[in-house]
Amino acid sequence: METTRRDFLRSAAALAALTGFGALPGFATAVRTGGGAARTRWYKGNLHTHTFWSDGKAFPEVSIDWYRSRGYNFLGLSDHNVFQDDPDRWIGLIGNDEKDVKPDWAKNRPPRFLYNARRRYFDIYRTAFPDVVTRTGADGRTEVRLSTFAELSQRFNMPGEFLLLPDVEATRVVDYADGRSHQLHMNYVNLPELLPSFAAPDFERKVRDVPLPAFLAAHHREVASRSAARGCRSLFILNHPIWMWYDVGPEVLIETPDVRFFEVCNGGASFKEAEGLPADGLDTDRLWDVVNAFRARRGYPLIHGIGTDDTHHYCGEDRYMCIPGNAWVRVRAESLDAGSLIDAMVRGDFVTCEGLEPDDVSFDPSAGRLEVVVGAGVAPRTVRFIVSKRDFSEKPVGKVTVRPAKHRDSMRYQREIAFYDDRIGRVAKTVEIPAGEAARVGYTLADDDLYVRARIEEKGETVCKASLHPKGLRCAWTQPYRVG
Ligand SMILES: [Zn+2]
Ligand SMILES: [Zn+2]
Repeated sequence: METTRRDFLRSAAALAALTGFGALPGFATAVRTGGGAARTRWYKGNLHTHTFWSDGKAFPEVSIDWYRSRGYNFLGLSDHNVFQDDPDRWIGLIGNDEKDVKPDWAKNRPPRFLYNARRRYFDIYRTAFPDVVTRTGADGRTEVRLSTFAELSQRFNMPGEFLLLPDVEATRVVDYADGRSHQLHMNYVNLPELLPSFAAPDFERKVRDVPLPAFLAAHHREVASRSAARGCRSLFILNHPIWMWYDVGPEVLIETPDVRFFEVCNGGASFKEAEGLPADGLDTDRLWDVVNAFRARRGYPLIHGIGTDDTHHYCGEDRYMCIPGNAWVRVRAESLDAGSLIDAMVRGDFVTCEGLEPDDVSFDPSAGRLEVVVGAGVAPRTVRFIVSKRDFSEKPVGKVTVRPAKHRDSMRYQREIAFYDDRIGRVAKTVEIPAGEAARVGYTLADDDLYVRARIEEKGETVCKASLHPKGLRCAWTQPYRVG
């Protein structure tokens, strides 16, 4: 373990002089110029959010207002299997204690509402947004019209400050004849329409004979070809791969190199931990390195890890896990528009944050050096530089077959989980930064490293209660970088 004594910067002023922007109050206003590069700014955003357009428990205005008023610069309302473009979409109100009716996916297809809203969510909405539109439905129930994406954009967008992005979460269940079942959830961002393959109702059950990688790749292709036809850039993200029960293993993502983004941190999805797995299990950090070690060796693009809230609950329901403010991304872009944000993310010019943000991240591709600037904090921070080695073995060092205790008699959640050697995802350098200290720390790729990424950690409580987060830690992740 190495300390940063040599690298320590003893004051914020010294840090500011070095970085050119460290004296500014954090990312929100951090601006960097130089080297002839265009002026850039770090924008904060969440790309996974639900509203009453699907199973989120807030009207969309309430959701957007939460984020915009807390300094987020962009937001994607990624409702399940719907794009918010129907101006005639209504939702029924029910009493606060009235039993909600579970939607019948086979019958209740849009445009009829699939969910009801409890009166208290409506009261919160109407208090802040009195121009809400209501009517009396055929059964005498009050119905509320849901605002469309176009209406919401018009209301909330502020040039250079806030941008609503089109976003859809495709939610699919893939059943196999042997009884196994996998959930595959995928977001596509900046494509303002519902694509045919994504229009199936949530949780539609169907036995399929297409392997999981091919199923995922087909969805990606549909997004890519539609984006090309429209002449717009889009993002395709594989959501919460190990929810709910190791549903998408690393092998699926090794075989689908066109998929460039996955959620390394999802604030909303709980995760049932397996019995019988080794102590280090298979968390999303581990999955990330397995995928990228194989991809790097094959010359494929590396996969980037994003963080999202997957927000479902907004109104003080702390007992729920899917609340806002858990995890986000900071993107270094030239301007706040979809094209610039997406270009920056494809370049890997962003950090993923869960309660903790570095002050700056840079990678010099000619020197192969990754540097992280961490501002002075109230608690000690640890920076780990993580690599995979060129000579890793593709042969698993072990395999286990697991089933959750609750489903021991069923094939439904049976999973084969492979483990690879420690040349994948090895911590190459650890730097401890004491409380109150700021530091610039770095790692230079060795000849036998395939890539390097950094994870910054700080002990402490997080907003998040879900177990797809590291426990008792606030974290930030850089993207993986390699020479060339
Ligand atoms: Zn999901
Ligand atoms: Zn979701």
